Amino acid sequence: MELRERIRDVVDFPHEGIVFKDITPLIADPVAFRTAIDRLAEAISGEDVDRIVGIEARGFIFGSALACVMGKGFSIVRKPGKLPWRTDREEYSLEYGKSVLEIHEDAVQAGERVVIVDDLLATGGTAGAASRLVERRGGVVTSLAFVVELAFLGGREQLEGRRVHSLVEY
Ligand code: IMP
Repeated sequence: MELRERIRDVVDFPHEGIVFKDITPLIADPVAFRTAIDRLAEAISGEDVDRIVGIEARGFIFGSALACVMGKGFSIVRKPGKLPWRTDREEYSLEYGKSVLEIHEDAVQAGERVVIVDDLLATGGTAGAASRLVERRGGVVTSLAFVVELAFLGGREQLEGRRVHSLVEY
């Protein structure tokens, strides 16, 4: 199964000049979706993992399915103002301006070994902020796993030596 064939390029979304990698055809295809989850599970199979953490919003799709097939708990990192209980927050830089991610204070227990999941790694700003949140809660980021990696944007380098897995690279 060639997952790349199920990823659609959308030109000029969300802004002119951006080619957006759209994973909706992949999750619409049951074989491709299952293949992606199985390959993510295989990628992290050598790691001692307690918990999967997914990043809003497409990280929830892949992260929750992965947690479910692996029999692990799932925790979420969200955009600001969405989590109902006590949160920790982390600001990070975007190309223009800043953004924030939040996590519940009890989403990760001290010493837990965590894999962070998102659909796509671009510059690494989002995944870096999620990693710092998990680590500040006392978790250990054993790796970060993505379906798509835009390697030309250098996200791996931004993640400062943390282990990175991706299924489809551009
Ligand atoms: P980064 O912080 O630059 O690595 O951007 C990654 C975040 O932006 C992830 O949460 C992705 O879901 C989202 N993202 C950026 N570019 C794309 C894209 O082309 N397709 C889907 N998501 C994207």
